[in-house]
Amino acid sequence: MFCKKCGNALYDDCNFCHHCGEKQPAKEEEKKEPEPDPTDATLLFAILILVAIGFYFLYVTGHIH
Ligand SMILES: [Zn+2]
Repeated sequence: MFCKKCGNALYDDCNFCHHCGEKQPAKEEEKKEPEPDPTDATLLFAILILVAIGFYFLYVTGHIH
């Protein structure tokens, strides 16, 4: 990588430029994958089931009458 201020060649894991002391932006390779929230999936599944039951109910009642 290169310093964004003076263009001096830097090590990839360098936080500051040795030449001008400019702070370098955080690396994009910093793997910080957000943990998948199981609550979201469960909630979505529950909503899906409720919607399915709702449609089934409407379907059944529609055929009864
Ligand atoms: Zn620099």
